[in-house]
Amino acid sequence: MTYEHGRDLHLTYDPGRGYWHFVLYIEPPIGPGSGLNSGKVIETCTSRYAAEWINRLTPCDPDALHVALVGKADAPSLWHACVYDDPDSPSAVARDGCVCWRTFHDPVTWLPVAANHYRTVSGNHENWRHHTFTPLALPEKERLERLIIDHEAHTIWVRTDQGTLHFLPEARGVGYSVGYKGGGPAELARMIEKIVKSDGHEVTAGTSRGAPNEKVLSWVSSKAADRTQELRLDHLKLLCRTGTVV
Ligand SMILES: [Zn+2]
Repeated sequence: MTYEHGRDLHLTYDPGRGYWHFVLYIEPPIGPGSGLNSGKVIETCTSRYAAEWINRLTPCDPDALHVALVGKADAPSLWHACVYDDPDSPSAVARDGCVCWRTFHDPVTWLPVAANHYRTVSGNHENWRHHTFTPLALPEKERLERLIIDHEAHTIWVRTDQGTLHFLPEARGVGYSVGYKGGGPAELARMIEKIVKSDGHEVTAGTSRGAPNEKVLSWVSSKAADRTQELRLDHLKLLCRTGTVV
């Protein structure tokens, strides 16, 4: 079931103590530290899809999900100011460089996002790397309309019939890629088969792990797949039948 903020998080207020109680219940699939969703990093790049996703993020204070996202070594830095706000911040380097973190949530999925600032002293190099989790499924009642191969951001996106953009749900430890023979293209080929079989409805993390459709795998592993392109559901169906998208 997809988590929905407002429906699944019930807060109770204790006026005697002056704070809100809530319980965050998660089920790690293997053991402590291995739970939650697959991680994702979006580097500074020219991708219009990455820009669309970054632009919708909402700044917020760090919370437990951000701590789980960045890990305990970086967790204290989530509360340190950027050099632009405080040159004497613990995350500032010589009052000009910076290695701070900024925290956000994605208002569509409520997944945490933590952006790591890297600025050298004098500012010759400066970028932000956005860390987040990939979703386990699309929002309920939404269906894949387009699968987007994003060469610039090295990412596979989904545009749903509601027009929203999501990372293609992925199982932890298994990523997607295109343009060569390997595990990433094989997983994407299996996911395309799964999407086509369910007519765009079952876009959930994980595949059967069996041998993928040879026609799909051959195209996904080829140079034809290794460029930014949007594939409608009927393109994906054609790919499963014929091994080509045109
Ligand atoms: Zn900074």
